[in-house]
Amino acid sequence: MAVVTGNLGFPRIGAHRELKFALEQFWSGNSETKQLQTTACELRKLHWRMQADSGIDQIPSNDFSLYDHVLDTAVLVGAVPARYGHQPDGVDLTTYFAMARGNDSAPAMEMTKWFDTNYHYIVPEFEAGMDFRVASHKPVEEFLEAKALGLMTRPVLLGPVSFVLLGKDRSQRLDRGAIVKALLEVYCELLKDLEHAGAVWVQIDEPCLGLDLAEFDLALFGKAYEQLVGCAPGLKLLLATYFSGLRQNLGRALSLPVAGVHLDLVRAPDQLLPALTEAPANLTVSLGLVDGRGIWRTDLDRAFKQARDAIGRLGPDRVQIAPSCSLLHVPVDLDGESHLDPHVRNWLAFAKQKLAEVKLLARAVTDPSPEVMEQFRENGRVLAERRSDSRVYEPAVRQRVAAITHEMFSRPSVFDVRTSKQSCVTPLPLLPITTIGSFPQTREVRQARAAYRSGRLPETQYEDLLRNQIKHTIRIQEEIGLDVLVHGEFERNDMVEYFGEQLKGFLFTSNGWVQSYGSRCVKPPILFGDVSRPRPMTVAWARYAQSLTRLPVKGMLTGPVTMLEWSFVRDDLTPADTCFQIALALRDEVKDLEAAGIRVIQVDEPALREGLPLRKSDRLEYLQWAVDAFRLATAGAKDETQIHTHMCYSEFQVILEAVKRMDADVISIEAARSEMELLDEFAEKDYPNSIGPGVYDVHSPRVPSSEEVETLVNKALRVFRRDRLWINPDCGLKTRGWEEVRLALTNIVAATRRVRDNPQAER
Ligand code: GLN
Ligand code: ZN
Repeated sequence: MAVVTGNLGFPRIGAHRELKFALEQFWSGNSETKQLQTTACELRKLHWRMQADSGIDQIPSNDFSLYDHVLDTAVLVGAVPARYGHQPDGVDLTTYFAMARGNDSAPAMEMTKWFDTNYHYIVPEFEAGMDFRVASHKPVEEFLEAKALGLMTRPVLLGPVSFVLLGKDRSQRLDRGAIVKALLEVYCELLKDLEHAGAVWVQIDEPCLGLDLAEFDLALFGKAYEQLVGCAPGLKLLLATYFSGLRQNLGRALSLPVAGVHLDLVRAPDQLLPALTEAPANLTVSLGLVDGRGIWRTDLDRAFKQARDAIGRLGPDRVQIAPSCSLLHVPVDLDGESHLDPHVRNWLAFAKQKLAEVKLLARAVTDPSPEVMEQFRENGRVLAERRSDSRVYEPAVRQRVAAITHEMFSRPSVFDVRTSKQSCVTPLPLLPITTIGSFPQTREVRQARAAYRSGRLPETQYEDLLRNQIKHTIRIQEEIGLDVLVHGEFERNDMVEYFGEQLKGFLFTSNGWVQSYGSRCVKPPILFGDVSRPRPMTVAWARYAQSLTRLPVKGMLTGPVTMLEWSFVRDDLTPADTCFQIALALRDEVKDLEAAGIRVIQVDEPALREGLPLRKSDRLEYLQWAVDAFRLATAGAKDETQIHTHMCYSEFQVILEAVKRMDADVISIEAARSEMELLDEFAEKDYPNSIGPGVYDVHSPRVPSSEEVETLVNKALRVFRRDRLWINPDCGLKTRGWEEVRLALTNIVAATRRVRDNPQAER
């Protein structure tokens, strides 16, 4: 008897980002709905076929989305906020995209990170009087679309409880229980429709079961699934959990009256044994054995043992083998990566390769033919080769990490001493004005970089262009009257890639795209080996920029935690150790910048908040090593060198103590969008060092007037000491145009000068 294989979701964007380009054509008015739908339909078909060819038995449908699956769920159940207008006949595409991206009359719905991934979902909004109903037939339509191709798929729905827990109630007066209750009627109807259409299994994702839940929320699951299983008795519901072990929720999850439960055994292998012990008779357990979040080849022997244990306990008919979570978070196909070193490529697996692993595991447990066994041996050989590769394991790097001493984590003196020394070497006015680093990356710059990379533009010409850009940027900052200048980051395509390309231990794919949100994709570097810095990375450009002006130019580095968070990381070294390796490389860069005469150095950590573990009990440990890594990268600086950091769009409440412990001399944060609200938290918790709250929302094309900026600065002065306050935009200016940037900065300088001249604003 063969064991069933399943998949929880497939990347939608396409191996060559076909969906991205189709969406952007459509949005810009260059194509019709029909063309967009055709591309979408072709992608679905292609992806289903790929999965079928890999031998997957339970292929997902309705995992496709034109923008986001949580938005799809909102549309599906009629949770459309009133500001998008009444939609009696279901939501049309214009409204759908308005919800995602905003339109002239209604701002977009909020977007936030999907658990601890780099995927962003549209946050459902619940309002009083919402007309919950089956407002779309997407799940049934896509099921039938696949059926017409001869494929029996397993439709995927985001479960009602997670959907509600992930949403927000704008009135703050609605009762989550009541919303779930109202939604159950809709889900019930949906399940009936799916049953009627011929579905056998339906996958219901309830990833919130992997979070710390209050008893009230946990109880919602019991009530919900009691009701749902009664709606369509012929359907088998597979309750899918992922990204985290169920821990204290395991018993509750296993006792829900569903036909199957999927467990993430990559993130939480230890939950297998208790799950096997506690699983009620007849419950199917889907084993998430192949990592849906990482790009490494699976250790098949290890996964095999887990599968064998499960089958030993439950028998083959009650076990399924699957990736740990949806493959949305990995690139589509490794086969296109022809320029990768074949040795290293052999260590990797993208979505398509992962499904082959799932199938191989299933064959190994039920039909261990010589051919299957040979593939297992080959897997063992490749993994052994990876472990002993000299690029993966560099003794000098390991020794350096082992030799890190306690003193290396602290600056020579405390903040007050440092500040007074810094003001001697680098005297600055009150309320110093600076920017976050990048200046507009114009088409000219991007085209030149593309031409240079493809060999069409000689290096000397590319560098001339960069020098001109830097010169221009320095002149403009001087003219406008900024106090601490930047060089503009024109040489950087991306703040992680730029450093990764210069460090040993990182590797770059040609097509390793992963959806970040909507049509936006990222191509995370692969951190595959021990990290070291063969030579200085930013010194030449920083030195050049500093040679152009008497004002201080800020050196600009990407912090170790952000480098780690925005890469695919190793599975053979702890994140802390990897992060320390990066920190040591940056520490050397800080030293070299200092030696080149750079007196202010910024180490960006916008992703520090993102790495925060899902479970509260895991957070302290993370924050400990993450902040230690930042300190290791920066604490080698002399007292006289001013260390800045920048963190944006982070929720600071939970990490503020950690942010204090980073001990940067100056931190810049985004605050314009929230009109300085964020600053209260820093003030309340007595943030001890200097702080630059943003006064310009860089995500908006609107240029703030100097009066507006002045109001914001005065607001900041009410909660923060005048001599600890800096003035800057929310984030880098790379996506803005020169004209608006010049105007905005001019207004910022005018506003700041008025406040400087008006001591009344002092608290
Ligand atoms: N220094 C970077 C820039 O200005 C920071 C970007 C970020 O915070 N994401 O572009
Ligand atoms: Zn930022």
